[in-house]
Amino acid sequence: MARKEKIFFVYPPSPVMNREDRCQQPTGETIIIPPLPPIDMMNLSAIAKNKGFDTKFHDYSLKSENVYDFLRDLREYKPDFLVINVASTTLEGDLSILKEAGDLLQNTLVIVKGAIFNFSSYSIMQKYPEIDVALRSEIEEAFEEVISYKDFKNIKGITYQINDRIISTPDRELKNTLDNLPIPDRDLIDNNFYIRPDTKKPQTIIRVAKGCPNHCFFCLATPLNGSVVRYRSVELVIEEIKQCIEKYNIKDFIFWSDIFNKDNGYVQRLSRRIIDEGLNINFSANTRADTLDFETLKLMKKAGCNLLSIGIESGNNEVLQKMGKGITKAQVEEAVQMIKKAGIQIYAYYVLGLPWETKETIEETYNFAVKLNTDYASFYTATALMGTKFYDYAEKNRLGIINYEKPYFFPSVKSYELSAQEIFEYNKKFNKNYYLRPRYILKMACKINSLLKFQIYYDTFLKLIKKSDI
Ligand code: SF4
Repeated sequence: MARKEKIFFVYPPSPVMNREDRCQQPTGETIIIPPLPPIDMMNLSAIAKNKGFDTKFHDYSLKSENVYDFLRDLREYKPDFLVINVASTTLEGDLSILKEAGDLLQNTLVIVKGAIFNFSSYSIMQKYPEIDVALRSEIEEAFEEVISYKDFKNIKGITYQINDRIISTPDRELKNTLDNLPIPDRDLIDNNFYIRPDTKKPQTIIRVAKGCPNHCFFCLATPLNGSVVRYRSVELVIEEIKQCIEKYNIKDFIFWSDIFNKDNGYVQRLSRRIIDEGLNINFSANTRADTLDFETLKLMKKAGCNLLSIGIESGNNEVLQKMGKGITKAQVEEAVQMIKKAGIQIYAYYVLGLPWETKETIEETYNFAVKLNTDYASFYTATALMGTKFYDYAEKNRLGIINYEKPYFFPSVKSYELSAQEIFEYNKKFNKNYYLRPRYILKMACKINSLLKFQIYYDTFLKLIKKSDI
C-alpha cells in the first residue's frame, strides 16, 4: 500500500491565544476567555483527509511545551507538509521554530497562514526563506490546490518562494456563500479539552458567517472577510450541529461570525430549525447594538442562546464616532435592555486607549460599563494589528513604536493624552474592579444553582483577588 502523505498542523510554542485571524485574543492572561478549538486547522484537515492525507495537530502553547518538543515531533512524524498558524502579535516567536528546525524540514513543504500574510507576506518571507507558501485570505481552496501539487503560479491567493524569488499570485475573489467550507475535522483534536468556562462542558465553534459592513478603526473583520456578510446555509449548520451531538456528544456551541445578527431573517430561520428539530443545544453568538430586534432575540433564547457578546467599546459618544463604530451610547443601552429582557446573558467588550482616549473618556467608559452591569465584561487595550486603520494611523501620527509585548492588555501605542503605562494601569484596575463590585457579586450569587456553579464562581473570585491582570 502506498504511504499516505502527512500534514502536521501546528500552533507554535508562543503565548496562548486564539489564532482565528480576526480574533487573536490571548487566552493565558484572562480568566474568562477560554481557549477555542483551532477551527481553521480543523477545516484544512477535513480538506486534506478527503484527499487521502494523514493529519495531525499540536498546540505547543496550550501545553506549555517548547521548541524542543516541536523538533521531537517533527523528527518522529516526518511530515510532507507543515502548516503553522501565525498570529500577528507573535510573528517572530512563531516563525523562529523554522530556524531551529533547519535540516529537519528538508523534505517538508512549509505553509503558513495568518491575517498578517494578507498585508505583508513579501517582507516576512524575505526574512524567513524556510517558508515555501503563505496562504492569504479565503485559504481553504488555495490550500487544497497547494497540497494537490498544482503549479503554484496558477494558484490564486498565495505568496510562494522558489529559487530565491518571492512571488504573489492575484487575490482570490471572496465567495458569495460559505457553503464551500467543509465540516471541520473534529477528530483532529481532543474535544473535551475545549470547555465552556461557566459549565465545564465541552464546547465547539461552528462557523456561521463571515464579513461585516462596518469599518471599525481597530478591527480586521472587513479587511479580511469583506464588507458583505456571507452566511453558511441553515442546512449545513444544522448538519454540523447534529454531527457534533451524535459523534462527539457536544451540545454547547459558539456560532462564529463577524456579526451574527446582521440578517435577522437568517437568524430566525436557523433558530426555528434548532427548535423544530428538538436539538436541545446551548449556543453563544455575537451582535451589534444596532442590529437587534426583540422577536429574534426571543426566538434565539428559545433555540438555546445563552450568551450574546457585544462590542460596546467606549462610554463616550465622540470616541465611538471617531473609531467608526456607528453606534451611540443610547443605542447600546436600548440593546442591552432588550437582551436582558429576552433572558440572554451579555458579554460586553470595551477597548481602552485609542488615540483620542483621555482620562475623562476612559473613566466614562468604566462608569458606563458599571451602569450596564452586563454578566461579563472584558476591557482590552487597543491593539494596532497590521491591516487595520489603527495600524496605519499609529504609524503616521507618531503614537510610538507599535508594541506587541502584551497585546490586548498593554496598549500597542499611547493615546494623544495618556501614556501606554497609564492606559495599562486603567485596564488592570477596570478588569479587576468590575468583577469585585458588591452589586456584581450579588448578581452572580443569585445565579448559583448547583455545587459545580458555586465552585466555578468561587475559583474565579479567588483568581481575581490574586491576579492583577485578567
Ligand atoms: S462591527 Fe464588529 S466585526 Fe464589524 S468592523 Fe466593527 S468590530 Fe469588527
